Amino acid sequence: MIDSYKHKGLRKKLIREIRKKGIKSEKVLEAMEKVPRHYFMESGFGEFAYKDQAFPIAKGQTISQPFTVAFQTELLDLKKHEKVLEVGTGSGYQTAILLEMGAKVYSIERYRELYLKAKKILEEMGYQPYLFYGDGYKGQPTYAPYDKILITAGASEIPRELLDQLKVGGKMVVPLGSQLGQDMTVVEKTGPNDTKKHKHGSFIFVPLIRGKDSNENN
Ligand code: SAH
Repeated sequence: MIDSYKHKGLRKKLIREIRKKGIKSEKVLEAMEKVPRHYFMESGFGEFAYKDQAFPIAKGQTISQPFTVAFQTELLDLKKHEKVLEVGTGSGYQTAILLEMGAKVYSIERYRELYLKAKKILEEMGYQPYLFYGDGYKGQPTYAPYDKILITAGASEIPRELLDQLKVGGKMVVPLGSQLGQDMTVVEKTGPNDTKKHKHGSFIFVPLIRGKDSNENN
């Protein structure tokens, strides 16, 4: 893992670009300037790490576009030491941004290969996330309730079990829609059975899929 001057320079440029696209939170921008995104991509594709684009990772999944990571993180409105449940660890990049911002992060991934890779890199970087291989639809009731829940895959509806694991007063950020496109939605839990929803523009994510993948031998 080498974070060269060239990488740092490219990262500064990327941060300027996403600031221009409308990200205002200095805390989010600072975290993104610190975390080397190329650590989360296959070596050889490092040159793509500092373009504002999603990129394929293993198992037909993607590392989200930097702007999207910044946008979802900004909407989460994190306070230090808050407990965050992330569904869809993927590469672990978004997880690292949350950790860098001081959150206590619980993250679930349905592909064992991705879970293992993310665990390795995040631990090598010195972070201490709580990572799980399993079905994110079910959340992680053992550690509930959470202050915030972040879903990084497109859902057709708000997963009920996840809403149950959110604190009253907490927020869930979830791309809601069909496979063709989703509305970035902030769901505020205003009471044990009450929510308020706000939409924040259209995005396209890989789908949230029920069940953990069990066709794997590794
Ligand atoms: N935050 C990640 C996004 C990865 S794409 C990153 O930037 O790298 C979304 C991820 O959600 C994929 O890795 C996919 O396997 C995972 N996913 C989809 N459905 C899931 C589920 N039910 N439980 C856990 N993870 C799920």
